[in-house]
Amino acid sequence: MLNGKTALVTGAGRGIGREIALTLAKEGAFVIVNYNGSKQRALNTVEEIEKAGGKAAAYGCDISDFTACGEMIASIIKEYGRIDILVNNAGITKDNLLMRMSEEEFDEVIRINLKGCFNTIRHASRYFLKQRSGRIINISSVSGVMGNAGQANYCASKAGVIGLTKSTARELGSRGITVNAIAPGFIETEMTENLPDALKEAMKEQTLLKRSGSALEVAKTAAFLASEGAAYITGQVISVDGGMAL
Ligand code: NAP
Repeated sequence: MLNGKTALVTGAGRGIGREIALTLAKEGAFVIVNYNGSKQRALNTVEEIEKAGGKAAAYGCDISDFTACGEMIASIIKEYGRIDILVNNAGITKDNLLMRMSEEEFDEVIRINLKGCFNTIRHASRYFLKQRSGRIINISSVSGVMGNAGQANYCASKAGVIGLTKSTARELGSRGITVNAIAPGFIETEMTENLPDALKEAMKEQTLLKRSGSALEVAKTAAFLASEGAAYITGQVISVDGGMAL
């Protein structure tokens, strides 16, 4: 159970982040539902958590903005006294073949997916270190493990998240802070809904389980990594991909 814990989930108004917020709240955590563009959907997530008897609050912040992330973490500490769980979920795609990929497409994906994780970790770690406890869970991707044609920017960002996870785990381990990554495979959300049907079928075929995954299946893994049961797990990349990367 996560009673008495405060969790920040980035990009939690929709998709996988929303499901992680709902799951952590069900386990008893107070959840800060971060959003950037989807304010109303973040408020809906908060409402759903409260209807189920949980506690949550929405906070708007572009995670690629270093200063704004500092203000968000400081305001969480001021309002709620502590932060125990940080889930870096927010992410985007800007797919293109390398030879057609613009500098902007490359930079924006790195800025949000990779630097966004650095920004929140950098600010939250100060409090984790003081508390001598904390759980950091970064959402990487199977694409960061295997690479994927048409996603050089995204794969580089998600491979970067794995490097960031392992380095941070090494630096913070002696203070009782665990840092892990989850590498989801093909999960049905808005991020994947516009992919061509043939590609979706091919991705399912690449898994051992012959199906796509759900946001809930990723959320349950995040909740486990945040739980007491995962206290001795750090620096790991947990695949939730139906065996795609095997
Ligand atoms: P999604 O439905 O497109 O949601 C993306 C989320 O990221 C939204 O909540 C969005 O918030 C947030 N976000 C984007 N830019 C942001 C920014 N600058 N600041 C704060 N939040 C920002 O995607 P998803 O499928 O749930 O993906 C969630 C994570 O899982 C991503 O990191 C993704 O790379 C990873 N992942 C997904 C899959 C998959 O198959 N779906 C597979 C592997 C990994 P707003 O709407 O409020 O802007």
